[in-house]
Amino acid sequence: MNNGSLTITRDRDTIFALSSGRPPVAIAVIRVSGPAARTALETLAGRVLEPRRAGFARLRDRPGGNVLDQAVILWFPGPNSETGEDVAEFQVHGGRAVIAAVLAALGRIEGLRPAEPGEFTRRAFENGRLDLTAVEGLADLIYAETEAQRRQAYRQLAGTLGRRAEAWRGQLIEAQALVEAGIDFSDEGDVPDKLLGPALATARALRDEITAALADENRGERLREGLVVAIAGPPNAGKSSLLNRLARRDVAIVTPHAGTTRDVIEVHLDLGGYPVTLLDTAGIRETEDPVEFEGVRRARERAQAADLVLWVTDAAVGTGEGASAAPSGGAEVWRVRNKIDLLGSESPACQSERTLAVSALTGAGLPELIAALARHAEATLAGAETSLVTRERHRVALRKVVEALDRAVAEGPGGREDIVAEELRLAGRELGRLTGRVDVEDVLDVIFRDFCIGK
Ligand code: GDP
Repeated sequence: MNNGSLTITRDRDTIFALSSGRPPVAIAVIRVSGPAARTALETLAGRVLEPRRAGFARLRDRPGGNVLDQAVILWFPGPNSETGEDVAEFQVHGGRAVIAAVLAALGRIEGLRPAEPGEFTRRAFENGRLDLTAVEGLADLIYAETEAQRRQAYRQLAGTLGRRAEAWRGQLIEAQALVEAGIDFSDEGDVPDKLLGPALATARALRDEITAALADENRGERLREGLVVAIAGPPNAGKSSLLNRLARRDVAIVTPHAGTTRDVIEVHLDLGGYPVTLLDTAGIRETEDPVEFEGVRRARERAQAADLVLWVTDAAVGTGEGASAAPSGGAEVWRVRNKIDLLGSESPACQSERTLAVSALTGAGLPELIAALARHAEATLAGAETSLVTRERHRVALRKVVEALDRAVAEGPGGREDIVAEELRLAGRELGRLTGRVDVEDVLDVIFRDFCIGK
């Protein structure tokens, strides 16, 4: 589909890479894709199997050479393979030396070279096996950390947005054809009106449908990226201690001296399947130290972009000072009074949703804080996996579609067909860019950059 890339495939390099995780591991998967994949199987395993059937083979460094390992081998002739090209797969023992020996043997075969990051997926895209939104879904699936993120990524990979965008584009092409037919008939009296009317109706309906899909409070993106919760407040309030307690592992340095947290430390939490990223912004304060200043600046930026701020104060010092300095940006702020163990009298029970009392030292009040965060994450992200839009790229493209359709609709039944036709064409083009059906060279590098080698 894309610029006749199917024909280019024939004289392409054959690529290979370790596709499984870091050795040593039980099994390592090494994949080969391209015209010489069959040669790779013949050279190392001495044979090629029936397509898509697992076989067992001794791998040799060359025909008749030394045995490297015994392996499960698979053969997927194109175009019905993951990349659309001929693919060979070797499942070898996952030791460093085994993997190195097999990769070296592959590298000696004429026409084979190591794959670049994301190159298998890029070929799958170029050969029409995946559209661009599915490629993004695949990247998200690999990076998904929680259940809701996995569901979201899987839907995206399965084509929820891609199919919808293609269906919309199909309708636009039909509408455009109607209008263009009208332009051709324009010498013949009232034909254009009859054609323009239905085309405008399609434009209006699509505009409303896409506008509704965009009105999702960015839930899809938030789920994909995780809800960002910044822990901020005056020095020594116990922010790092609190983060450590919440993360249940030692991530931040806890020290009795102020200003030791030089950067933003983040901890990813899975709260009931929803992703929450906690940021320790202990550096938010005035400083003379240039290194710390940079930490402060970054801390401020992250805190300002957060969905929620936990403003931590030392309950023993009194609430006035810290509370008054609480950030007043866009994010919701919860006040967290820490060190209640020092007060003796106060119990964590006397808290409300936005004012909590805890002790990072004893752990008092933390179950309540975690429960409140989990409720907040659920309220903010529930249902987000069904959101069509999961990335800014999608939002930008769909906004442009809506704008073009708005302009078409504004022309009205008495309007100029050539303008309507042009706007419909623009809208269709944006949808084509969304799925990668039309010139998207500029966005490809950005998208494939997210991939690791072997994917
Ligand atoms: P930060 O500068 O806000 O990150 O504060 P730290 O987490 O480094 O804590 C500052 C000091 O307060 C350290 O000596 C901690 O041990 C102490 N601290 C933190 N939380 C508590 C608490 O809940 N109770 C008591 N008694 N001390 C705490």
